[in-house]
Amino acid sequence: SEQQLLQENKMATIGQLAAAVTHEIRNPLGLIRNYCYLLKNSKPLEEHKIKKAVTVIESSIEKSNHIINSLLDFSRMANNKWEKVDLKDFIHSIIALQQNKIKQQQIEVTIECKENNVYFVNVSSLEIILMNLIANAIDAMMDGGRLILQCGQQNNVLTIKCIDTGIGIEKEHLKKLFSPFFTTKPRGKGTGLGLYITYNEVQKLEGKIYVHSEIKKGTTFDILLPLKEVI
Ligand code: ADP
Repeated sequence: SEQQLLQENKMATIGQLAAAVTHEIRNPLGLIRNYCYLLKNSKPLEEHKIKKAVTVIESSIEKSNHIINSLLDFSRMANNKWEKVDLKDFIHSIIALQQNKIKQQQIEVTIECKENNVYFVNVSSLEIILMNLIANAIDAMMDGGRLILQCGQQNNVLTIKCIDTGIGIEKEHLKKLFSPFFTTKPRGKGTGLGLYITYNEVQKLEGKIYVHSEIKKGTTFDILLPLKEVI
């Protein structure tokens, strides 16, 4: 349908943007790596050389930061649309975008929502959040499994759980999970920006995100979002 095409185009744009950003950031990262190598491996080093190295490292960090901020600004600009949506339908439409992978990998999907599913939400942020969590869950279940999305409400907080029965996350990876460029996926497949952007979007909504994971058992992401009054 037209709506689906639109969605796919948007995903392509975000994907292309992520690829471009990754490319742009490899240069400053490469510089940082080389100068760190210099600092570590050549001693004694004259003071002016140390100063020069640190200056290059600083400006490379500055440059990477700038690139990341533009990416976030882009997603912010395109995305500040609040709407009343039926959460179950909304989740459905996002899952539909991954239907091919879900079929190929034999993943069983369940959406568990209570009767009242209509919420006033930032649709663009929620789309980014769910798209990233669902894509990661699917990638974690190459040999099949179950993907469960649960939504509920506790007082003025909307809760969304994304549960998978995939490979799980190593304990020592958990603390790096939301940092930019942390990825365990092969080059070209992972950018390590998905959860970083997800975290930012959750922050923007003044919400919280938690992760529980067990190796070979699966992973659960918990999203808590404060509900706004409907305008
Ligand atoms: P990317 O998907 O590009 O690697 P993300 O920031 O979305 O970047 O995820 C970072 C890393 O977190 C992934 O490479 C993977 O190792 C891990 N991860 C995220 N979600 C899951 C999940 N549901 N199951 C297992 N590992 C996950």
